[in-house]
Amino acid sequence: MFVVMRTTATEAELLGVKSRILAEGLTPYEHGSEDGTKVAVVGEIGGRRPALLAALAELPGVERVTPISRPFKLTSREFHPADTVIRVLDAAVGDGSLTVMAGPCSVESRDQLLTTARRVKSAGATILRGGAFKPRTSPYAFQGLGVEALRYLAEAREETGLPVITEVMEPNQVDIVAEYADILQIGTRNMQNYSLLQAVGRVARPVMLKRGYGATIEEWLMAAEYIVSSGNPNVILCERGIRTFETYTRNTMDLAAVPLLHSLTHLPVVVDPSHATGKRFLVAPLALGGVAVGADGVMVEVHPDPDSALSDAEQQLTLDQFRELMTELVPVHEHTRGLHRDPVLAGSELGIGGSGAGLSKH
Ligand code: PEP
Ligand code: MN
Repeated sequence: MFVVMRTTATEAELLGVKSRILAEGLTPYEHGSEDGTKVAVVGEIGGRRPALLAALAELPGVERVTPISRPFKLTSREFHPADTVIRVLDAAVGDGSLTVMAGPCSVESRDQLLTTARRVKSAGATILRGGAFKPRTSPYAFQGLGVEALRYLAEAREETGLPVITEVMEPNQVDIVAEYADILQIGTRNMQNYSLLQAVGRVARPVMLKRGYGATIEEWLMAAEYIVSSGNPNVILCERGIRTFETYTRNTMDLAAVPLLHSLTHLPVVVDPSHATGKRFLVAPLALGGVAVGADGVMVEVHPDPDSALSDAEQQLTLDQFRELMTELVPVHEHTRGLHRDPVLAGSELGIGGSGAGLSKH
């Protein structure tokens, strides 16, 4: 549930509401918006719900108390109807612009990364990607250059001005990765690594949370909730394909997840057709598809010589293919932006009460 404060509420009244929530052993999360201040109540409320709802509604300065129907609270549209916009250096994610994260699967050398960075920037990428710590299925496969790669990423940012995103695999890597990178990526294999989610929730860097390849949308949003409830509101969701019975593609890209997420959550959503398909020729069509169904952006793997890549050789685009993709992506985004975004309407179809349902003092 969340408490909506009256626009005339004083600081003392807000404090009174938070103290009451804390006294129940629950946690208050304040969110300021155009229509005033709201305080979400999170924790194990259980059977106390009706009594607590009534008690909070009676407190001075309270306009009304509204239940949140979903298990994810802070990430829900119900609590936070406006889109979250994440700003990092000159890039913005979720503001209606097209976010394009591009770069190699793995940072393999200084030259490979800088060449790619310059070319993707000139083609219109807004964020540079590159794996430093690689989660590989085989322990014998290339594991990434680690901190050396982080230094190359920082150098590429200095030169191009592009913010950089790279994966962090363990809680004890969070500080070093956050020192070099602008956005921290949580990979599919770590989507339910709760101590890692809490660790990235405590740093002042946006996080891109990839969908676990076996995760439902609700499990994914609950994972995002771990990050936000740990103190970091800047989370981007990335649909990167889920495992199904199909074997012609590496994974199955769940396009329906994009508009569904926009109705369920205020967090920005990007798609990663590289890992979703695993095949170079499928990357462009699925990138276009993702943007056409309303994704805020794409993440695409690009390599100067994909066939010689040390990881994911089959799915990385060449520099020229990436440039071509950009010429197709921009008009599709121009044409479709805003078309699918009516979260209130979608929410009513999903059974979300959006009309101030709940207990009011009036
Ligand atoms: C990646 O983007 O580098 C990656 C390993 O992706 P995923 O976690 O989606 O497999
Ligand atoms: Mn990869």
